[in-house]
Amino acid sequence: MNYDSNNIFAKILRGEIPCHKVYEDDHSLAFMDVMPQADGHTLVIPKRGSRNLLDAEPVELGPLLASVQKVSRAVRKAFNAEGVLIQQFNEPAAGQTVFHLHFHVLPRTAGTALRPHTGQMADPALLADHAGRIRGALTD
Ligand code: 5GP
Repeated sequence: MNYDSNNIFAKILRGEIPCHKVYEDDHSLAFMDVMPQADGHTLVIPKRGSRNLLDAEPVELGPLLASVQKVSRAVRKAFNAEGVLIQQFNEPAAGQTVFHLHFHVLPRTAGTALRPHTGQMADPALLADHAGRIRGALTD
């Protein structure tokens, strides 16, 4: 399967559609998921296009995972979470719906159920507030 640069995350990277940005460096961008499965649900994507983990260049995965770690620490702190769930889906059979590699970062607290995957759109004001909380919890 080929990478299609018209996917929604490629459009976010090009600034063609907005996002609630959490973190950015030379290799990666992190922003709020519009249909969060938990408050603080953040997506971390590489700037270089690959469809998913299966076709990504191995050399890009180190810097990308460093961003996932950085964002995960901030998400845990911002939401006072007991744990952080990382999810990453490859191809439709595995649940992938947007075909640009991404890692889901989900703060978790025992006894709190996750909302459905690609469920309800969140209030943009709430996402802006959550993005600000996570940005404020980022450390160098
Ligand atoms: P996947 O199913 O491919 O692992 O996850 C795609 C994720 O992207 C879903 O959790 C979905 O809620 C999220 N999503 C879909 N469209 C948009 C969008 O336009 N903006 C943002 N920020 N997230 C999106």
